[in-house]
Amino acid sequence: SSDEVNKAHLAEEAIKKYRNTSPTIFSKIIDKSLPADIIYEDDKCLVFRDISPQAPVHFLVIPRIPIPRISEVTESDGQLLGHLLVVAKNTAKKEGLVEGYRIVINDGKNGAQSVYHLHIHVLGGRQMNWPPG
Ligand code: ADP
Repeated sequence: SSDEVNKAHLAEEAIKKYRNTSPTIFSKIIDKSLPADIIYEDDKCLVFRDISPQAPVHFLVIPRIPIPRISEVTESDGQLLGHLLVVAKNTAKKEGLVEGYRIVINDGKNGAQSVYHLHIHVLGGRQMNWPPG
């Protein structure tokens, strides 16, 4: 269908756009050459538990395509970014975070980003504080 063709076209554009991105540790989690505690995956993203949890529940939602950081996204990434947030919310519910949770995206040096493959942190299971450190 034309919808399928359009989807394939958008996927090709996304791959081209980020093709010069260097692989990170998360590329190895995506290709399964590095084990991770994966709690959800689909054709666009992967969710796994953070190896160094900062709350009783702490997982990461990442796109399969290697977008380095939130500051590099454009309008054409909007649908994918929306999907990542919906998956974050669905997984938070499955993890039993009925009293709320925190969603964080760190960008660059001042944001204390250490892995340059876009990821959404979801933290819960305890009272979160504000302002963050
Ligand atoms: P920070 O390290 O300051 O939290 P980021 O926002 O870039 O910066 O977060 C990267 C996250 O990835 C960290 O919370 C870290 O514990 C997690 N992480 C790193 N390597 C792995 C891994 N192999 N499996 C699961 N989580 C990982």
